Amino acid sequence: MTGSPGKHERRGLLLVVSSPSGAGKTTLARRLLEAEADTLQLSVSVTTRPMRPGENDGVDYWFLDGARFTQMREDGELLEWAQVFGNSYGTPRKDVETAIESGRDVLFDVDWQGGRQLAESMPDDVVRVFILPPSAEVLESRLKSRNQDNADVIAVRMAQASNEISHWIEYDYVIVNADIDRSFDELRAVLAAERLKRERQTRLTSLVEQLQRDLGESFRS
Ligand code: 5GP
Repeated sequence: MTGSPGKHERRGLLLVVSSPSGAGKTTLARRLLEAEADTLQLSVSVTTRPMRPGENDGVDYWFLDGARFTQMREDGELLEWAQVFGNSYGTPRKDVETAIESGRDVLFDVDWQGGRQLAESMPDDVVRVFILPPSAEVLESRLKSRNQDNADVIAVRMAQASNEISHWIEYDYVIVNADIDRSFDELRAVLAAERLKRERQTRLTSLVEQLQRDLGESFRS
């Protein structure tokens, strides 16, 4: 008789979490990475933008020059890429493929454009979750309470939020983040259910065959 399938006996998935700025995405992503540290890793993008104080190469981004970025893009080493505010950003393909083939899941904290490109590149592996604020008032007060931005920046972020929210329809799951603990439980439940999808449990066939052999033997004896 065989045991139950182990945690590596499935294909990993790509969990894309998007939201307007201030809806709680970064907090949820951080909590999920902590809770699922054994099987979930954050995708580290490459970028041509200069490193900011406090950032670390290989942690926040892989920082590289324009020539190297172009080379990676032309060699097909990027799963998706975009230009944002004059800098290039992209998702390295190799890390993602290595992770999912070894049964690990990868979390992406990207906007709708990144989410859409990832879904186009790897449609069977991508699960997209959109985080909505419960109201415009709550979003505004969360942006203000961060104390990071002045009034003009907050106004710009509110306008960007409207644009980002218009893409909610492209997502598989939507979480309205009125309560961070509840939203975290919901996000974790999505991950748990998606891991159990039959198509991801790539080695279940051998378990089922073994079960059928063993059951046949017990029936004969
Ligand atoms: P920042 O320079 O402030 O870290 O990021 C600027 C923007 O680039 C953010 O909107 C972020 O979502 C986006 N971004 C970061 N990494 C990637 C990536 O790998 N692909 C895409 N498409 N966008 C990214």
